[in-house]
Amino acid sequence: MAKSHKYIFVIGGVMSGVGKGIATASIGKILSSRGLSVNLVKVDPYLNVDAGTMNPTEHGEVFVLDSGLETDQDMGNYERFLNRDLLADDYMTSGMIYKAVIDRERNLGYSGKCVEAVPHVRDEIVMRLKRSATLAQSDVTVVEIGGTLGDFSNALFIDAARVLHLQNPSDVIFIMVSYMPIPGTIGEMKTKPTQNAVRQLNAYGVQPDVLIARAAQPLDDRRKEKLSIQVNIPAERIISAPDVGSIYDVPINFERDHLSDILLKLLGKKGKPTDMNEWKKFAAHAHNGKESIKIAIVGKYFDTGDFVLSDAYLSVIEALKFSAFHQGLKPEIYWLNAKHYQDDPKKVEELKEYDGVLVPGGFGETGIEGKIAAIKFARENKIPYFGLCYGMQLMVVEYARNVLGLTGAHTTEIKKDAEHPVIDILPEQKEKLARKEYGGTMRLGAYACDLKEGTIARAAFGAARVSERHRHRYEVNPEYIEQLEKGGLVFSGTSPKDKRLMEIAELPKKVHPFMVGTQAHPELKARPLAPHPLFDAFIKEAAKRS
Ligand code: GLN
Repeated sequence: MAKSHKYIFVIGGVMSGVGKGIATASIGKILSSRGLSVNLVKVDPYLNVDAGTMNPTEHGEVFVLDSGLETDQDMGNYERFLNRDLLADDYMTSGMIYKAVIDRERNLGYSGKCVEAVPHVRDEIVMRLKRSATLAQSDVTVVEIGGTLGDFSNALFIDAARVLHLQNPSDVIFIMVSYMPIPGTIGEMKTKPTQNAVRQLNAYGVQPDVLIARAAQPLDDRRKEKLSIQVNIPAERIISAPDVGSIYDVPINFERDHLSDILLKLLGKKGKPTDMNEWKKFAAHAHNGKESIKIAIVGKYFDTGDFVLSDAYLSVIEALKFSAFHQGLKPEIYWLNAKHYQDDPKKVEELKEYDGVLVPGGFGETGIEGKIAAIKFARENKIPYFGLCYGMQLMVVEYARNVLGLTGAHTTEIKKDAEHPVIDILPEQKEKLARKEYGGTMRLGAYACDLKEGTIARAAFGAARVSERHRHRYEVNPEYIEQLEKGGLVFSGTSPKDKRLMEIAELPKKVHPFMVGTQAHPELKARPLAPHPLFDAFIKEAAKRS
């Protein structure tokens, strides 16, 4: 870590769900627009060692880094706003920290001392924060402390931030993201909950330097002045953060209150004049798209009670948006529950109304025959189809069943003794599964992929070798590759060298305008200022249909 490395801690007060993650990503964005190198760190206070075992319907998408670490969806927003790949050290959970401390204790690493939350666990956090700064080789590390002030579970992280500040007072600053309710019966913005939250943070020995005031409406100067005295923060350092139409407007909004100037001054750093032109152009697309295209996402992680939760597919939605925005289009995304096609097979004909069909990643049996029916319909009716991971595996199953006539084709994830196991687990993974080592049975993180000349994938990427991120256990069964290829399916992307892993499957353009599936999750690498080539190609074909 360079001596003058800077840290910004972002802490949430009053309540959760007010956009602390987007605020953190936006702080990263405005600082990098001033020419600083920034890495963003997410601290998740739960005891899971990573986010891999969490249910996406409840917790949102699992975002996978190049390193293969399974993280929280906030990390996806960080990478998208920063346009930078983040490292495994940029993510930590309480489980990860405690596990390291307990493992060390078991290995006599504490020389017979009594091992305690304070100092040992807290100091492990401080050590990791410094390590992430060193590995990222950045100027500034922005750390979002998950959860809300007052939670028991994030107290040690706040204490670690306090200690880091004590060690380097001029290198560490604190930002509180708070919320100002406007109760309907009163119609006036209330600042008391925020005043209390700041006092609560003071009790940890921490005084915020900046306050980001989230509310439905802008914070007026009068209220800023009043609040400033109460919370002990100069009025110009209270940032008005009203609700906005698109998350990509947030950094632009922060700059209206000169947040990057304020931060640079507090950190004693010089920056270039801000350069956000490209970002502003992109953000404006979110409001200006004229022609709309209708994309159907056929999946299963939608319903929790009466709610439709699209967070499980966050990166997919964003990737579609980026490609549509760059083509001047307005994406309309529809959530179609695969289960409905199982219950009522005729219903699948509704897909005719859409310009493109996408089956995203997934696990397990729910809705699987419905997804296969949707894929069949898209193939037969020449509707652009894009399959991501499970969506590619099921595209292969559908092709084997309905084109090659292998009616018993299936993935062994669902049918262990399938007559034609066209999607199967590789032998080396089988052994781990038998030992119930579920954590270690997935292919995770970035893998290289070679692209075959003359294919849709190769034309889209415009490169012979690419790298994409993975998260799955099953693969196209090598025993069926020849038969599938003879039957007309093209494996346009394979693992380099041994060519044993089928990474991309497609149908030739003369047979179908766009029928493409990827074993990887390309959505994880789509960025606002660098949309993903395969999503671009899918949207382009969908637009032709519209
Ligand atoms: N369930 C499939 C597998 O494990 C696909 C996983 C996914 O779509 N991420 O291989």
